[in-house]
Amino acid sequence: MDLKSLIRDIPDFPKPGIVFRDITTLLRNPEGLRYTIDAMYEQVAPLSVDYVVGIESRGFMFGTPLACKLDAGFVPARKPGKLPAAVHSVEYQLEYGTDRLELHQDAFHPSCRVLVVDDVIATGGTAAATAQLVEQTGCDLVGFGFIIELTGLEGRKNLPEEVPIVSLIQY
Ligand code: 5GP
Repeated sequence: MDLKSLIRDIPDFPKPGIVFRDITTLLRNPEGLRYTIDAMYEQVAPLSVDYVVGIESRGFMFGTPLACKLDAGFVPARKPGKLPAAVHSVEYQLEYGTDRLELHQDAFHPSCRVLVVDDVIATGGTAAATAQLVEQTGCDLVGFGFIIELTGLEGRKNLPEEVPIVSLIQY
């Protein structure tokens, strides 16, 4: 299936000069959504994943159905102040300023295998921060899964070298 044809390009969003890859047009397409989850499943199933970590918020949309299909649990990595119990927290750099992601400290059982999922990898800063959160729990980070990789930004260079990266669509 031509997944790219289901992604809508929005010029000058969220600011002038940026072309935003809009995945809502993929999500609303029943065949496209199913194909996306199935295609990601095929590539990550060999990693024997215990938990999928989805990054707020679009990582939740793909991470949860993927976790179900993998027979894995789903754990959200959230923006600050959203998770109710004790958290690990990592600050990361944005183009202007910083942001923070959090993960429940008791989200995983010891020595489990974790896959991090998001819709898009751009600079890799968000995924790298999530990788640090997983490392703080002491669990094994066994892979990253992205629907879209913006290759020009070389985000994969910011991720741990030894961890496999799956992306379904490249721009
Ligand atoms: P990074 O930290 O890799 O620079 O940016 C990735 C994060 O920004 C992801 O959480 C992703 O959802 C969001 N993002 C950046 N660019 C785009 C885009 O063009 N489309 C979508 N859907 N998300 C984007």
